[in-house]
Amino acid sequence: MSREAKKSVDRVIHDAEVEERIREFFERNHDLLRQEGGHVLAEGAKRQALDQVLCYWRKLKAIATLVTETEVKLALPGLKTPKGRPFVLEGVVDIVREGNKVLMYDLKTHEESEVRAESELYKQQLNVYAYIWKRLRNQGLDGTAIIATRLPPELREALKARAPKAINAAMAAWDPVVDLPFDEDEVARTIEDFGRCVDEIEDGKFAPPPVDKLGKPHGTRRKKDHGDTPGGGLDREPTFAEIHCRNCDARFSCDSYQAYQEGQGGPRSKRKTPGMRDDAAEQELDAWIEDNLAEF
Ligand code: SF4
Repeated sequence: MSREAKKSVDRVIHDAEVEERIREFFERNHDLLRQEGGHVLAEGAKRQALDQVLCYWRKLKAIATLVTETEVKLALPGLKTPKGRPFVLEGVVDIVREGNKVLMYDLKTHEESEVRAESELYKQQLNVYAYIWKRLRNQGLDGTAIIATRLPPELREALKARAPKAINAAMAAWDPVVDLPFDEDEVARTIEDFGRCVDEIEDGKFAPPPVDKLGKPHGTRRKKDHGDTPGGGLDREPTFAEIHCRNCDARFSCDSYQAYQEGQGGPRSKRKTPGMRDDAAEQELDAWIEDNLAEF
């Protein structure tokens, strides 16, 4: 066997072994969660979770194998809100050192399209982490990026259908690393925004935004055509409701969201929650429940 061919076989074996270890760790973690907290996943949900981890590894192995420091905790103490309350800003990032370059990655359990749509918000957070890393830790930094870990809808659908061609196409189209260059000049404004947010929480101000805000475009990038948006996947900026509300656990008891849904029209959800209308998130939730109930 030629040296090149042997190298190639070694590489395949190596990747297969990594995936085997991932499956072992996944099972071990699941057992631990079950024993310690009583959390049990139905088979369908467990399969989806393992698929997500494996896809994440396959797509991002080049970065994953280069990570030199993982779960690095960054903290900026001694801050004050506009109302004088003390607070600490904390974050957890991964660091990659490659040659002379240092890159910082922040993992988010969101979809890539959400991160791209709200890139300014994510950038603000990275600016603060970059500031802590450079100024307080006195370390060099050449780039910052968000890694969006939630699989895109096309890939989730393809995995569910166990359709290899569609899975390959969706994997190739998925681009979960969103580069967001940092700008330290923005740090003071970001810290002030966080402080205002702390004041609102401490003052018990949790009112949702007015209903008209939910239907308005709320991003800085155009949404990709996922075919899952009301209106048939139009190439347009996503709305506040599409970015935030569809994943919000409070949406079933949120007055603004209920009013927004009632104004949208369309078929009612199969669960027929009073005052609620169907939407992509509802359909997804229904499909998930049906999928997992079918396992019993
Ligand atoms: S559903 Fe959630 S994200 Fe949307 S407005 Fe209500 S509280 Fe805010």
